[in-house]
Amino acid sequence: MGAVSYTLGGGLGILAREFGYAADHVRRLEVVTADGELRRVTPDSDPELYWALLGAGQNLGVVTELEIGLVPVRTLYGGSLAFDGRAVDPAALLRAYEAWTRTSPTLGSARAGGPPSDGLTSSFAAVPYPDLPALPPHLRGTYVVSIRVACTGADGDALVAPLREIGPVLSDSLREMPYAESHTIHSDPDFPHAYYGDSAVLRDLYVDGARAGELLRATGPEAGQMCVVQINHLGRALARPAPNAVPYREGRFLVRLLTVGDREGARAVLDPAFALLAGDSLGRSLNFAFGAGDRGTGLYDPDTRKRLARVKETCDPANLFRRNYGVSAPC
Ligand SMILES: Cc1cc2nc3c(=O)[nH]c(=O)nc-3n(C[C@H](O)[C@H](O)[C@H](O)COP(=O)(O)OP(=O)(O)OC[C@H]3O[C@@H](n4cnc5c(N)ncnc54)[C@H](O)[C@@H]3O)c2cc1C
Repeated sequence: MGAVSYTLGGGLGILAREFGYAADHVRRLEVVTADGELRRVTPDSDPELYWALLGAGQNLGVVTELEIGLVPVRTLYGGSLAFDGRAVDPAALLRAYEAWTRTSPTLGSARAGGPPSDGLTSSFAAVPYPDLPALPPHLRGTYVVSIRVACTGADGDALVAPLREIGPVLSDSLREMPYAESHTIHSDPDFPHAYYGDSAVLRDLYVDGARAGELLRATGPEAGQMCVVQINHLGRALARPAPNAVPYREGRFLVRLLTVGDREGARAVLDPAFALLAGDSLGRSLNFAFGAGDRGTGLYDPDTRKRLARVKETCDPANLFRRNYGVSAPC
């Protein structure tokens, strides 16, 4: 995954609720625009282009350099609690997780001198592994539901205590760790692979009643095509306004669905699942729109889209940078 396009698309990091989007930390960009000019763009030199590049830069030029402010993090508390999705009710787990996100800001105690614990970043995941020889034997044919957590400066064990009580766990990797080990929290594959995927930023998750069950049934082992569900808790630093075009900061959750296989099969799983969420969806997240076959509707709210179209008209009127989700078209 490229660090530049990750950042131009917002960049939702492992400690995102504590520190905000990666784009929020960019101080300066160097970009070659459609006229062939190399521009050094800062909030002072060209506030409008700076604003637009961070959120939609793929449409506006080739970014050749980024200067990013760093945050000092040596260690963090984090890991994953995995449950057997056939032994526990995944919908009940999702409801318990959602309820926990409402209480976690006040749980536990900030370590002396550390920041308050309400910057905890977490997500829910449900993965139905197919019964394929290519997979490790312990995963073949399993349905693993997990909650992933990361925070700094807090009494992590106290914060996650209610999660550990939800039910018997398959594995528990929650611990203090050096930042260099933080990639183990999500265990993303370190090799390229193909899939389709899409996302919905939700005002709220509203998983009371039947909805959690419907969503997980539509995407679970019986879905007909493998579908990975990831639900990120947003808010706090992600909700802070910033001078960039990363939209939907008011969203409380991000639902991401990934499928493998062909496009038609993918849509057959994704469309009904996202239809369940449509009423509460603010829009989609650019970094999690993986070739799901559309023109980019819903990636920006109407005001952001109009403002982006004005920047595009100024710096790329011939639409040279068009081989991605466009910002010229009305939403
Ligand atoms: C396993 C995995 C885990 C991920 N986890 C996260 C995550 O935790 N948080 C998150 O926010 N995202 C995550 N993503 C999404 C990722 O940030 C986006 O898919 C990103 O766009 C990937 O960039 P790329 O350069 O690899 O892809 P590409 O398809 O090569 O690029 C994506 C877009 O950026 C444009 N682009 C590339 N380089 C430049 C440049 N220098 N200047 C201008 N435009 C450019 C390309 O033209 C294209 O339109 C993940 C993706 C994967 C595959």
